Amino acid sequence: MTDSDSGDVFDRVAVDLDRVAGLADAELVHAVRVDGSCGWLATGDQAPGWTGDDRADRVVAARVCAGCPVQRECLEWDLRGMRAHGEPATAGVWGPLAPQDRRRVFVRWLDRRGGGHPAGGR
Ligand code: SF4
Repeated sequence: MTDSDSGDVFDRVAVDLDRVAGLADAELVHAVRVDGSCGWLATGDQAPGWTGDDRADRVVAARVCAGCPVQRECLEWDLRGMRAHGEPATAGVWGPLAPQDRRRVFVRWLDRRGGGHPAGGR
Protein backbone atom coordinates (compact mmCIF):
# COMPACT_ATOMS: atom_id res chain seq x y z
CA MET A 1 0.00 0.00 0.00
CA THR A 2 1.37 3.41 -0.89
CA ASP A 3 1.15 6.49 1.34
CA SER A 4 -1.49 7.80 -1.04
CA ASP A 5 -3.52 4.61 -0.69
CA SER A 6 -3.26 4.86 3.10
CA GLY A 7 -4.54 8.41 2.94
CA ASP A 8 -7.53 7.27 0.93
CA VAL A 9 -8.31 4.59 3.50
CA PHE A 10 -8.22 7.08 6.37
CA ASP A 11 -10.35 9.51 4.35
CA ARG A 12 -12.95 6.79 3.79
CA VAL A 13 -13.02 5.91 7.46
CA ALA A 14 -13.57 9.56 8.38
CA VAL A 15 -16.41 9.83 5.86
CA ASP A 16 -17.99 6.63 7.14
CA LEU A 17 -18.02 8.02 10.67
CA ASP A 18 -20.59 10.60 9.53
CA ARG A 19 -23.27 7.96 10.01
CA VAL A 20 -22.68 7.91 13.77
CA ALA A 21 -22.08 11.65 14.13
CA GLY A 22 -25.60 12.19 15.46
CA LEU A 23 -25.29 9.72 18.30
CA ALA A 24 -24.86 11.01 21.83
CA ASP A 25 -21.76 10.00 23.77
CA ALA A 26 -23.90 7.80 26.01
CA GLU A 27 -25.26 5.95 22.99
CA LEU A 28 -21.75 5.27 21.74
CA VAL A 29 -20.64 3.98 25.12
CA HIS A 30 -23.71 1.80 25.43
CA ALA A 31 -23.20 0.32 21.95
CA VAL A 32 -19.57 -0.53 22.62
CA ARG A 33 -20.23 -2.01 26.05
CA VAL A 34 -23.24 -4.05 24.98
CA ASP A 35 -22.35 -5.09 21.44
CA GLY A 36 -18.57 -4.78 21.20
CA SER A 37 -16.88 -8.02 20.29
CA CYS A 38 -14.14 -7.31 22.82
CA GLY A 39 -16.56 -7.37 25.71
CA TRP A 40 -15.35 -10.80 26.66
CA LEU A 41 -11.82 -9.41 27.03
CA ALA A 42 -12.81 -6.57 29.31
CA THR A 43 -13.01 -6.82 33.06
CA GLY A 44 -15.31 -4.37 34.74
CA ASP A 45 -14.71 -0.92 33.29
CA GLN A 46 -11.25 -1.81 32.06
CA ALA A 47 -10.39 -1.80 28.37
CA PRO A 48 -9.31 -5.00 26.69
CA GLY A 49 -5.77 -6.05 27.39
CA TRP A 50 -4.05 -4.18 24.61
CA THR A 51 -0.28 -4.14 24.82
CA GLY A 52 0.27 -0.51 23.84
CA ASP A 53 2.59 -1.62 21.07
CA ASP A 54 1.02 -0.64 17.74
CA ARG A 55 2.27 -3.62 15.79
CA ALA A 56 1.30 -6.21 18.38
CA ASP A 57 -2.06 -4.58 19.03
CA ARG A 58 -2.87 -4.49 15.32
CA VAL A 59 -2.41 -8.24 15.17
CA VAL A 60 -4.70 -8.78 18.15
CA ALA A 61 -7.26 -6.30 16.82
CA ALA A 62 -7.37 -7.98 13.45
CA ARG A 63 -8.73 -11.02 15.26
CA VAL A 64 -10.82 -9.44 17.98
CA CYS A 65 -12.32 -6.52 16.06
CA ALA A 66 -12.98 -8.32 12.80
CA GLY A 67 -16.70 -8.45 12.37
CA CYS A 68 -17.43 -6.30 15.42
CA PRO A 69 -20.79 -4.65 14.73
CA VAL A 70 -19.88 -1.41 16.51
CA GLN A 71 -16.50 -0.55 15.02
CA ARG A 72 -17.64 2.90 13.96
CA GLU A 73 -19.30 3.68 17.30
CA CYS A 74 -16.10 2.59 19.03
CA LEU A 75 -13.90 4.79 16.87
CA GLU A 76 -16.25 7.76 17.09
CA TRP A 77 -16.20 7.51 20.88
CA ASP A 78 -12.41 7.50 20.95
CA LEU A 79 -12.06 10.39 18.49
CA ARG A 80 -14.40 12.50 20.58
CA GLY A 81 -12.12 11.78 23.49
CA MET A 82 -9.11 12.86 21.43
CA ARG A 83 -10.87 16.11 20.56
CA ALA A 84 -11.63 16.75 24.22
CA HIS A 85 -8.20 15.85 25.57
CA GLY A 86 -5.84 16.53 22.66
CA GLU A 87 -4.41 13.04 22.89
CA PRO A 88 -5.77 9.58 22.30
CA ALA A 89 -8.06 8.99 25.24
CA THR A 90 -7.16 5.37 25.24
CA ALA A 91 -4.15 3.26 24.47
CA GLY A 92 -4.42 0.19 22.35
CA VAL A 93 -6.79 -0.46 19.53
CA TRP A 94 -10.19 1.07 19.12
CA GLY A 95 -12.43 0.96 16.20
CA PRO A 96 -10.24 -1.12 15.27
CA LEU A 97 -7.29 1.18 14.68
CA ALA A 98 -4.02 1.50 16.57
CA PRO A 99 -3.20 4.97 18.02
CA GLN A 100 -1.03 5.99 15.06
CA ASP A 101 -3.83 5.22 12.62
CA ARG A 102 -6.44 6.89 14.82
CA ARG A 103 -4.40 10.10 14.76
CA ARG A 104 -4.46 9.98 10.95
CA VAL A 105 -8.21 9.51 10.90
CA PHE A 106 -8.61 12.15 13.61
CA VAL A 107 -7.21 14.94 11.41
CA ARG A 108 -9.68 14.10 8.65
CA TRP A 109 -12.56 13.54 11.08
CA LEU A 110 -11.93 16.91 12.73
CA ASP A 111 -12.07 18.65 9.36
CA ARG A 112 -15.42 17.02 8.65
CA ARG A 113 -16.76 18.13 12.02
CA GLY A 114 -16.02 21.77 11.40
CA GLY A 115 -12.34 21.79 12.20
CA GLY A 116 -11.10 23.54 15.27
CA HIS A 117 -8.27 22.53 17.44
CA PRO A 118 -8.36 19.75 19.95
CA ALA A 119 -7.53 20.57 23.52
CA GLY A 120 -3.86 21.32 23.87
CA GLY A 121 -3.76 23.36 20.66
CA ARG A 122 -2.53 20.65 18.29
S1 SF4 B 1 -14.07 -2.33 17.35
FE1 SF4 B 1 -12.71 -3.67 18.54
S2 SF4 B 1 -12.15 -2.45 20.36
FE2 SF4 B 1 -13.99 -1.50 19.44
S3 SF4 B 1 -15.77 -2.41 20.49
FE3 SF4 B 1 -15.36 -3.62 18.64
S4 SF4 B 1 -14.04 -5.29 19.30
FE4 SF4 B 1 -13.96 -3.72 20.89
